[in-house]
Amino acid sequence: MLNGYAGTILRVDLSEEKIEKQPLPIKMAEEFIGGRGFVAKTLFDELPPNTDPLSPANLFVVASGPLSGQFMPASGKTHFGCKSPATGGYGDSNMGGHFGPTLKYAGYDMLVLTGRAVEPSLLVIEDQDITIKPAGNLWGMGSLSAEAKLKKDLGEDFQILTIGPAGENGVAFACITHDFGRQAGRAGIGTVLGSKNIKAIAVKGTGSIPVNDAKALLAEGKQAFQDVRAKPGFKGWTPEGTAGITDWVNRVGALPTQNFKTSYWDQHASINGAAILRTLKITDKGCYCCPTPCGKYGKAKTGLGEVYVEGPEFETISLLGSNCLMGDISEIAYANYICDELGLDTISAGVVCSWAIECYQNGLLDRKVIGREVSFGDLASVVYLLESIARRQGVGKLLADGVQSAARKVGKGSETFAIHVKGLEWSGYECRNAPGMMLAYMTSDIGAHHARAWVLGHDLAGSSASVHDLITSEGSNEKLPKSEVTGRAAKVIESQHLRPLFDLLGICRLQFMELGFEVEHYERLFKVVTGKQLNWDQMLSVSEKVWHLTRSISAREIKGFGRNWDYPPERFMTEPVPDGPNEGHFISRQEVDVLLDEYYTMRGWDHKGIPTAETLKSFGLDDVAASRPSWACHSNE
Ligand code: SF4
Repeated sequence: MLNGYAGTILRVDLSEEKIEKQPLPIKMAEEFIGGRGFVAKTLFDELPPNTDPLSPANLFVVASGPLSGQFMPASGKTHFGCKSPATGGYGDSNMGGHFGPTLKYAGYDMLVLTGRAVEPSLLVIEDQDITIKPAGNLWGMGSLSAEAKLKKDLGEDFQILTIGPAGENGVAFACITHDFGRQAGRAGIGTVLGSKNIKAIAVKGTGSIPVNDAKALLAEGKQAFQDVRAKPGFKGWTPEGTAGITDWVNRVGALPTQNFKTSYWDQHASINGAAILRTLKITDKGCYCCPTPCGKYGKAKTGLGEVYVEGPEFETISLLGSNCLMGDISEIAYANYICDELGLDTISAGVVCSWAIECYQNGLLDRKVIGREVSFGDLASVVYLLESIARRQGVGKLLADGVQSAARKVGKGSETFAIHVKGLEWSGYECRNAPGMMLAYMTSDIGAHHARAWVLGHDLAGSSASVHDLITSEGSNEKLPKSEVTGRAAKVIESQHLRPLFDLLGICRLQFMELGFEVEHYERLFKVVTGKQLNWDQMLSVSEKVWHLTRSISAREIKGFGRNWDYPPERFMTEPVPDGPNEGHFISRQEVDVLLDEYYTMRGWDHKGIPTAETLKSFGLDDVAASRPSWACHSNE
């Protein structure tokens, strides 16, 4: 028996309708902990190399971690993985809510879907009973609507994840929705579920999870809840959640604005956390066991209609808001709802819409191609584009494969302002004067995503100031000096191990990141749950190992993968920021190469950014090192 784990992997071959339950290998739990570690290990071992992401051979993996579902703060995270249709490489995304804990209570640490169902289907997991049911009646339905229907049909005690029309229609940035507003948004996770003809997965679990010392867990868990609530930031952070950072991001000149043309917007105060509380909020909403419910459930009234919606959180505010020049928080919330119902990642959707509008403004896409006039700051334009994309209608056919693909087809210089890395659209921080954050985006293993590393505060604070002080101080809008690019890699690498560590354990990172919840809590909780003594540094070492593994998967899957895949968009390397605190700043290609050289060297990767055999072996990835000659050779062509 493995304490902390349900002990079983559930495998469903949808083509054969074959269901298999396999004991969770102890070695896998010991070497990869859970969540993202299980996803990466499974994809490396089981994904046939060079698989088309939308073919039945791709894997759709769901994994929780040893702390998921345990009596401790915020233990409700679930991790998803596949070969990404957005990038062609390693893809993963995670989500809060209640799904992962419930899957564990049903008896499974991991679910692996392969094949493709012959018709639109629903997978129902009710403890030991697994059924694949026809779901033609749900196909075409919005994500939120389908979830509501399934809750009614199956019962409130089922936890449900759904895709929307975007996932059904193979949109490269389709997401999974759960709990009426929680999303696994990135890397096209919902696209892959849709390609398997699965509209929804419903799980009900009535079992329990073995733990090493239940009495000690009760005591540690109780103490942990008390300590989170005693943190100085507890009362200040929770009311606005992630939206509370909007003003600060703008003040330091990092707010994506008008398709990342600039990084400062004087209308930020109308779309910040206070605007949500003033205009939208009905109640707070949290994930499983969370003492700091950052979700804001509210009602948005706009000229296009009224909706109830969870959000918008900061990423949605920045990409559908300032980046599309939408300065009305209700309109952003409405666009957020449309994305949720259609099953679109709000980050990628915001970037794709703003790119299309800029193309229209510049005459690169005309009215005939777009189908109507579109403009920045216009909700109707954004909603029209979102609907077109999700249904692959009209201009949606061009946009549905993501901004990289669309820009390649349109050409005429539009690639310059297609804001992505590796094919994944850039999330909510503009960083032409934040070289560390730029490097974090460039080297994120799924493409341009902030959740892998966030060093913006350190970029701006330098070595002498406290990042916390910088973020919480009022500050001014004075011009910031040009940042040095050297010496950035170490902090980025540290953050790339730290943030994804929470994805191994199956818990939320925000209590640690935002409130300074101590690592000792996690060490003690891990010990009482699993019975194993793993200190923070040892956990970080596992996270580092997984980083080398995910990079190796992308190198294996993407022909020619290497340094060229790590460059930022041309706009950031050639266009100075036109206004705001970072006016005049940009990062040159030479500076980008300095960042990459330093990073690859510190990582133990070759000059093209491929992990060396020695590095892989030093983390016990001997099998990956042994296979390296078969995939690293094309990376060095
Ligand atoms: Fe979920 Fe937010 Fe709580 Fe994290 S802080 S567990 S994302 S509600």
